[in-house]
Order: sequence, then C-alpha cells, then structure tokens
Amino acid sequence: MAEIINGKKIAAQVRAEVAAGVTARVEAGLSQPGLATVLVGENPASEVYVRMKQKAATKAGINSFDVRLPTDISQEGLEKEVTALNARADVHGILVQLPLPDGLDEERVLGVIDVNKDVDGFHPLNIGRLAQKGRKPLFVPATPDGVIYLLEHIGTEMEGAEVVVLGRSNIVGMPVALLLVERNATVTICHSRTRQLPEVCRRADILIAAVGRPEMVKKDWVMPGAVVIDVGTNRVDDDTKEKGYRLVGDVAFDEVSEVAGAISPSPGGVGPMTIAMLLRNTLKAAELGDG
Ligand code: NDP
Repeated sequence: MAEIINGKKIAAQVRAEVAAGVTARVEAGLSQPGLATVLVGENPASEVYVRMKQKAATKAGINSFDVRLPTDISQEGLEKEVTALNARADVHGILVQLPLPDGLDEERVLGVIDVNKDVDGFHPLNIGRLAQKGRKPLFVPATPDGVIYLLEHIGTEMEGAEVVVLGRSNIVGMPVALLLVERNATVTICHSRTRQLPEVCRRADILIAAVGRPEMVKKDWVMPGAVVIDVGTNRVDDDTKEKGYRLVGDVAFDEVSEVAGAISPSPGGVGPMTIAMLLRNTLKAAELGDG
C-alpha cells in the first residue's frame, strides 16, 4: 500500500513557519505583511477560495485586504484598482482571483501587478523567468510550488526521474512541468490530444495529475512504486452528502493507492498546500519590501 502524503499536516507546518516569521518581523519593528485579494464579480467557487485565503492569512498574522469589484467593471477600472494597490505600502502581496468575468483581459491585468507584489507568480515576467534556464522568478505560483514542496518533503528524487504531467494549464500543468525540468527531471507533458495516455503515464516515476476529470487515472496507468500527486479537485454528485456532492481528485485513489509508492489524496493533498505557499510568498514579498 502507498504512503499517503498528508497535505493537511504538511501545510499546517508551513503555515506555522510563516506565522512565526510574521511574529519575528513585527517584534523586530518591521511591517506586518499585507495581502490584498481582488475578486471581480460573483463566482461562488472564487468567493470560497478567496475567503479561505483571507482566513488563512489572518490566522498567520498577515493583514488581509478584501477588494470586491462588480462584474461590469471596465478593464481600465480594474487596472486602476490594481495600480492603487501597487502604490500602497501596507499591501505587500496582490492576488487577482482567476478566472475573471468575460470581457476582461486576464493577461493585461496580471501584467499590471507590481512584479515585487506578484504573490501568485502569474505576472508574465515571473512566468517568463520560470521558463528560462538559470533565471529565477521572484515568486512561483502557489499550486505548482505546493506540488514540489510535497515531493521534497517525502524525499522524492527528482533529478533524472521520469515525470509525466497530465495537463498543460497556465496555473498548474505548465509551471509544475517547468519547475520539474529545473530540478533536472525528464518531463513529458500530456493533454487532451495525447495518444496512448495510459501507456505514457505508466512510464512515470512521478505522475502529476492536473486535468480536472474525476478519477480518470486508474490503477493500470501507474507504474508500481510511482509517486502520484493528485492536483484535481472535482465535484461529483452524491445524494448521501448534505450538499449533494463530494469532492474527488483526478486519480482513482483507492485502486491507485494499491500500486503507487506514495500518493497525495484529494481533498487533503495539494489543496491545503496551495494556501500555505501563498502565505509563504506574502511573507517573502514583505521581506523584499524591506529592501
Ligand atoms: P484546465 O482545465 O485549465 O486544464 C486542464 C488540462 O487537462 C488541459 O491541459 C487539458 O488539455 C487537459 N485535459 C483535459 N481533459 C483531458 C483528457 N481527457 N485527457 C488528457 N488531458 C486532458 O484545469 P486546471 O489546470 O486549472 O486544473 C486542473 C485540476 O486541478 C482541476 O480539477 C482543478 O480544480 C484543480 N486545481 C486545484 C488546485 C488546488 O489548489 N488544489 C488549484 C488549481 C486547480 P488541453 O490543454 O488539450 O485542453
């Protein structure tokens, strides 16, 4: 049976480290880190994510600034709000919750964020640096960073490892693949046009699933002993639950844990790490702000 990677517990340790770092700053007379979350419109899932991030920030001693903007805000109006946050000394990190409502240009907004406050790591400059050999981004996107943290935490050898990343999105698949290349892994990126998916996945020493398809990865897709990280978070109908649904990952957890060497569950794996890494980035942003 696979080792179960307890993302909740590992994330709690990271959050405690961040909280200690914040306390040490404040005791040393330095500024309290501040995180501004920008939420445009009323996407219920985004509202939940933003609330979770704010709560975790407050718990770690980070000031949380809640910026809510109407769905019909203009591109110019949104960019103005972000520019105003760039200028504030008490805001060290700025997070624009994605996706933005239709009609707003995500790339342009992300480009307006001060690169020194880009705690989500989605500014084109940070992503560009991630893609270039020998150049370091100031901030790494939280979810991919969380994946790497989990792998490091359990002592997974990345150098020379055969890695398969399922998914090529800007926020998960592609940056996680780049981070693994940087760690000298041999990386295959799969997507909706990949042929013979199970066969490709079976080559992996490390398999990262970020597709958004409930329990797609089956036992026979996984090499015995492989490390499997499940980023997927999917709702499936379940009448036995009060809410009428439950959350599952992209990996068929029960059967895959019979063959994998280690596996991160979903929920309870990468999800909690995402928030912990965001808090870590916010503390780093405050430290950068010290000059
Ligand atoms: P996207 O929808 O942006 O990307 C999905 C990727 O999977 C695409 O590259 C797509 O290929 C590929 N894909 C979709 N279907 C298949 C298929 N049948 N076979 C092979 N490849 C396929 O999703 P995200 O990257 O944003 O998210 C992925 C999952 O991770 C979701 O479940 C999401 O909820 C979860 N997530 C979890 C987070 C966390 O904090 N734990 C944070 C962010 C996401 P193509 O490019 O060809 O379309």
